[in-house]
Amino acid sequence: MTHRLALLLIALMVPRLLFGWGQPHHAITRAALETLPGWQKEWLGTELKALGDVHCMIPDQVYSDKANAKYAAMDSRPGEVYLQVLHLPTVQTEYLEVMTYFMERAVTALREGRSGDAARFMGTMCHQIEDYGSPSHTMPGDNQFTLLQQFLPPSDGMKDKLMHGPIENGDFMVSLGGYQPRLLGTSVNEAAWRLMHRVHEGILNARSTTIPIMQALYADDAATVTKHQLRAAVVDAQIAADALYTILCLGAQKLPEMPAPVAIDTFWPLEAEKLHYPQTQFFSSPYWGHPRIGSILAGGTKAVSLKLKLESGEKEFAHGISAGMGKPLTFVLPQGVFRRFTVRAGLHPELGAKGRVEFTIHGDGKPLTSLTLNGTDAAQKLECEVSGVSQLQLLLTSRSLDSKSNYAIWAEPELLK
Ligand SMILES: [Zn+2]
Repeated sequence: MTHRLALLLIALMVPRLLFGWGQPHHAITRAALETLPGWQKEWLGTELKALGDVHCMIPDQVYSDKANAKYAAMDSRPGEVYLQVLHLPTVQTEYLEVMTYFMERAVTALREGRSGDAARFMGTMCHQIEDYGSPSHTMPGDNQFTLLQQFLPPSDGMKDKLMHGPIENGDFMVSLGGYQPRLLGTSVNEAAWRLMHRVHEGILNARSTTIPIMQALYADDAATVTKHQLRAAVVDAQIAADALYTILCLGAQKLPEMPAPVAIDTFWPLEAEKLHYPQTQFFSSPYWGHPRIGSILAGGTKAVSLKLKLESGEKEFAHGISAGMGKPLTFVLPQGVFRRFTVRAGLHPELGAKGRVEFTIHGDGKPLTSLTLNGTDAAQKLECEVSGVSQLQLLLTSRSLDSKSNYAIWAEPELLK
């Protein structure tokens, strides 16, 4: 095929509108690299600079940079040159698999002394983290903000522009000050899974920047655009720093101490597929609402502390989930990492005094443990074996005549190795 025809075909095939961040990818990756400890920078050698200059763009350049395209491709998807999941979140189970795959490739390459390969896989991971946390990748299924512009009608100047580029593009530097990157896990499976949850924080943070950026674009206020873009970029760089630091620690098998139990109360369940609760996930009792982290809603309106009656007396819990009847919460678990799950189940002593609730924990669809408690009963610790479980589900079922009193709490839900 002629060169010109080939170029035209490439131009048609590339889903350009998905491209995220552009120039800022470099600034964000460089800021992340800057935070790494000396031994890691030395180990990367010349790849350190290449990561910020070139490798972080690999997933966007798979058609033009054929030599590096394989570092953004997966064995399980032969023939797929441009992996959309490296740019936009799909479903948790899928992007966890992708993050695990690329992290594993990077760690294996480091252990085998192939630092050039490792750095390229790390570049692909940085790109994914940064794209997911880009202010212009925040609206599920609407990468050009055609819906959001109906809520927020554009100024005359922006009326005919596609919004994706202006929302994310800029020429700025990112600095993380004294940020200390965090170890995300002591194995690839654990680290990729925690990275996914860190990335969720990045997505939510980026969502908070999109509307202010659009408003500043409409007002032709470039400084304010940059200010909010930087809010997203800084968090993305911190998450990329955590990922890079962790990959290098795992590669070198130099692992700092890490607290063993992992609290899952702040993690998003599968039911909140796009990191918000769709209306189909709302429950009707004890009130009309959705699950809450760290508080319980009296009458569906007033947030009060999570409190349970224990054998030793009443106790408030900072960590926990309050939820309603009949709507499950399903958490994805990493493979081969955790052995046990523990949680305190009970009803709020005052709000739930007249309630009666069955607390059930399922692993991959099979009941692991179950308990029915009255509102006047002391809370109970539930504990179950989760080795081999890939989806853990918490479910509440009304067993009372007065379902308006079923103020149920899952306190301190934790995974243990
Ligand atoms: Zn991209």
